Amino acid sequence: MIIVMKDDILPESPEVQGVIQLAERYPNVHAEVRKIQGALRVLTEIYLLGSTSTIPIEPFEEFPAVEKVIRIRERYRSIGRHQGQAEAIGFDYNGVRFGQDTFHLFPGLCAIDTPENTEAMFRALQAHGITTTRAGAYKPRTSPYDFQGHGKACLPFLFELAGKYGIKVIAMEVTHESHVVEIRDALAAAGNPTGVMLQIGTRNAQNFELLKVVGQQQEFPVLFKRGMGITLDESLNACEYIATSGNHRIIFALRGMKTNLGDPHRNFVDFAHVPVVRRLTRLPVCIDPSHSVGKKEAAPDGLLDIHHVTAQGIIAGANMVLVDFHPKPEQALCDGPQALLLGELEHFVRDAELVRHAYLERCALRERLRSA
Ligand code: PEP
Ligand code: MN
Repeated sequence: MIIVMKDDILPESPEVQGVIQLAERYPNVHAEVRKIQGALRVLTEIYLLGSTSTIPIEPFEEFPAVEKVIRIRERYRSIGRHQGQAEAIGFDYNGVRFGQDTFHLFPGLCAIDTPENTEAMFRALQAHGITTTRAGAYKPRTSPYDFQGHGKACLPFLFELAGKYGIKVIAMEVTHESHVVEIRDALAAAGNPTGVMLQIGTRNAQNFELLKVVGQQQEFPVLFKRGMGITLDESLNACEYIATSGNHRIIFALRGMKTNLGDPHRNFVDFAHVPVVRRLTRLPVCIDPSHSVGKKEAAPDGLLDIHHVTAQGIIAGANMVLVDFHPKPEQALCDGPQALLLGELEHFVRDAELVRHAYLERCALRERLRSA
């Protein structure tokens, strides 16, 4: 059950305490208070967890400070959008806001290789006013003989350069608990010049112990990539492990499904699920066109498939785009064939902005016709 408090009621207010006291009089019921950053307002919600199915809602509705009481349906208790919950769960991290109403591009290196390439990437981002990027230090590869990422060795130069070029958030995959510690230590040693969003890769989507690790820490937000060979429902349930462990700053990413029915793309592009995830959950939704398409082929109109699928995700309301770039893709140690060139960044950014604008126009059109 979720008790939504009225606008001006803060988590620490006596009204919230009153609701908790009543709730915890029922056996096996535990209350968790959450501050929800919506698009237009900040809300306090009290989640009642445990044996709540027989608790009546009326005594809670009678509190003058309560706006409404929602019974949680069984699925996705923590990340789910439950009946009557209009507000999405947004959050601020290192000065950047993420929500179902925001839009950010994360162009960057699939894997960090040299300081020179990293600096060239960051310089290009800065020239376009972009402060969010992707950069892999820990690379889970299909073959043990492939480049596994430089690991913690590259973090000092990565973070120093990020500070130099005004990068605020770096999406970086972690595959083990120790990586979170290494990232935290390296950031502190560099004087915290940037922020990191911990990425859970598709191969670890159901690594429940890793999900609990990133869920139990509150410092870094989490970018959860759906599992490539499991259902959306299974991925959403896996993502729920992060939230139930305590971390609600989560972004859900679509990155294509592994099946040769999507050939000749690397994965079957699944961006039709953007509106589905936005409806079923209150999380911001990211798309990864690079790992979905996996190659730089163009359609007869001259636009790369990577551009086309990016547009398909954005026109459907995606809030974030994770996309591979590299100054010299032929030298990249991982995923070179899908990396766009730095000289192609301007086209990518402008194209994405154009489509985002069209998406907002679509929403405005619907509002106009609805209220007419
Ligand atoms: C990545 O983003 O570098 C990556 C490995 O992605 P995925 O987990 O989606 O394959
Ligand atoms: Mn990759």
